[in-house]
Formats: sequence, C-alpha cells, structure tokens
Amino acid sequence: MQPDGEVPVVQAAREARAFNFCSGPAMLPEPVLQQIQSEFLNYRGLGASVMELSHRSDTLVGLFEEAEHRLRHLLSISSDYAVLFLQGGATLQFSAVPLNLMKVSGQADYLLTGAWSEKAANEAKRFGEVSIVASDAEAGYRNVPALETWRCNPNADYLHVTPNETIHGVEFTFLPDTTVPVVADMSSTILSRPLDVSRFGLIYAGAQKNVGPVGLTLVIVRRDLLKAPELSLPSLLRYDLQAQQASMVNTPPTFSVYAANLVFQWIEAQGGVEAMGRQNQGKAQKLYAFLDNNDFYHNPVAVNARSWMNIPFVLAEERLNQTFLREAEAARLLNLKGHRSVGGMRASLYNAMPEAGVDALIDFLQDFSQRRA
Ligand SMILES: *Cc1c(COP(=O)(O)O)cnc(C)c1O
Repeated sequence: MQPDGEVPVVQAAREARAFNFCSGPAMLPEPVLQQIQSEFLNYRGLGASVMELSHRSDTLVGLFEEAEHRLRHLLSISSDYAVLFLQGGATLQFSAVPLNLMKVSGQADYLLTGAWSEKAANEAKRFGEVSIVASDAEAGYRNVPALETWRCNPNADYLHVTPNETIHGVEFTFLPDTTVPVVADMSSTILSRPLDVSRFGLIYAGAQKNVGPVGLTLVIVRRDLLKAPELSLPSLLRYDLQAQQASMVNTPPTFSVYAANLVFQWIEAQGGVEAMGRQNQGKAQKLYAFLDNNDFYHNPVAVNARSWMNIPFVLAEERLNQTFLREAEAARLLNLKGHRSVGGMRASLYNAMPEAGVDALIDFLQDFSQRRA
C-alpha cells in the first residue's frame, strides 16, 4: 500500500479505461457505468442498492415497465408483441424456441450461416424434426446462401435465422417472403441499426453484446405464438406464462434490467437506432477499408455479407499472433483474439465502442504491419 492508501496498480487502472474489443461480455457506454457507480450504494435515496431491492417493489416493477417502454419505443415494437426479460442466455433460447413453437407440424427450418446457427439447430434436433434450408458450412461460413437456394418447408412451425454470426463475422438483413414465423437470434446485432420487428415471429438476444451486462435475455414474441404449450414444459421456459406474469415467474435479473434501461436511455440520447446504425456502419467501413488496403491483414468474409459488429481478420504470418496480441494489450487494445474455432483475430465493434477505439486500433495495425513487413 502507498502512504495514501492507494495500490499503485489500482490507481493506474482507474485512470485508463482501455478499448475492449471483446465479443461478449462487451464494453458498456462509459456514462452508463458512471451512473451505476454514482447510485450504486443508495438508489434514489431509498437507502439500498438497486441490487438489494425486491422485484415486487414499486421501484423494480416500475423499472421493468420503463425498460420495456424504452425498448418498445427504440425498436417501434407494436402491441402485437410481448417483450420478456428472461435468464439463461441465448443458449437457453435454443431449447425454449423449439419447446414452445414446434408444436403443430413438429418441424422447423434452420438456416446455417455460422457457429451460432449450427448450435441452435443442433439443440432443436432434440425436440423435433429440423431441416437445414441452406448452409454455407462447406465454404467455411464466409457468405450467406442466396435466397433462391433456400429450401423452405411451407409447413414448418418456424424458420430460424441468425442475422449476425458473432464468431464468423457474417451479417445479413434479407428474409424470404414466407407466412412461416421467422425466429431470429439477434444477440450480437439487436439495437445496432434499425429493425423491422414486424417481419419476425420471435426475436431473442443475450444482453451482453449490445444491451447491458450478462444475465438478461430479451425475447420479443408475437402474441399469437403464445398459445400454451404442453404442460410438460418447465414453467420458466413457457413464453405464455412469462408474458402473463410480466417476466416474474421467479426472481428476474433485476440488476441487468436496471442497467439495460440505462443503456436504452443512452441509445435514445445518441439519436436512437438510426444514429447507432450510421455510427456502426461508419466504424465498420473504416476498419474494413483499412484491412482491404493492407497486405498484412485479411478478412475472409464476402463483401456483401460482412458484419458491422464482429470483424475477424488474420495476419499474413500466423506465427506473429502471440506477439500481436501482447503488443495490442500493451497498447490498451484488449481481447482481439479470434474465437478458437476460427483462429486469427476479431474486433467486436458494438454500440459502446467509440470511433476513437477504431482509430486507435487502425493506428496500431498500421504500425505493427510496418514494423513486421
Ligand atoms: C453470444 C451469442 C450466443 C450465446 O449467448 P449466451 O448468452 O452465452 O448463451 C448465441 N448466439 C449469438 C448470435 C451470440 O452472439
């Protein structure tokens, strides 16, 4: 300890927040973290932290209503849809979706565009008949199969898509013209750009990429899909019950909803999802333009399928990966290591990543390539 009681390393860490390119849990907007800090011990004069309040209290019930209202406003979600604040991550939804929705034909269609849609399909196979409408697996998930090649089943209970593949860095916004409800895993793209919710039967998203801290999963589900499923379903997984009981079938993730509500306010202050979309497109284009014009780096994804959120890239010399990561960390650019299934590097540029972070990354990439060339 120093004489003033501050451990030097703690002091230094507090002064310099790094640019964190983690795919999730990801960076949160600094004003949100500051507000959490400022009211952490004593929420609105109640003499207790928001973490210590009952979910049945007027304060928490009000916070849930406020968060739902803000999310509905940000994404123009109509009253035809229920908004649920659940737990278990996107991964539990891989099971909850088939358990709730695979109940007429017992068949579901899945589009494979990367690691996450594969996982979703594999989980669903345990509950019914899964058919793969199209897949880019053989080519290594570098593109999205063209719509004309999708073999959709008109009797499927739903069609599942993953509009942003967090690991492979593939993103798309087109959908087939179908009456089958479309279910989308939007964990890493929700709130990053405008979204027409009415094209979907159900949208789900783990919060820890673009929404808030881990522990919260958003489910936006069209009410006509809420018919009670078989009684054998665990209560916590029943969308109809969660909708009836305002996501409080058991103790819900109160702190994560409180923090998500602050993130929603921050997005409103940025100008909503339209402004977020412009910023995100700008940040991504800047990084892709740099990568495409530098021989030392390579992004393998087809240009029209490139994600605004997750940008994988490889170095010309793989043996330099460890050096690259060590030097990046020393330059306060954190978590650039790619997913182990893909290798190389990945920069995740969610809403909370400022443009200054992208500029700092590009400066580092430029410098590193010049020194190694
Ligand atoms: C992160 C992620 C998941 C897994 O989320 P968990 O909250 O860890 O279950 C699923 N799908 C996508 C697209 C993701 O980005």
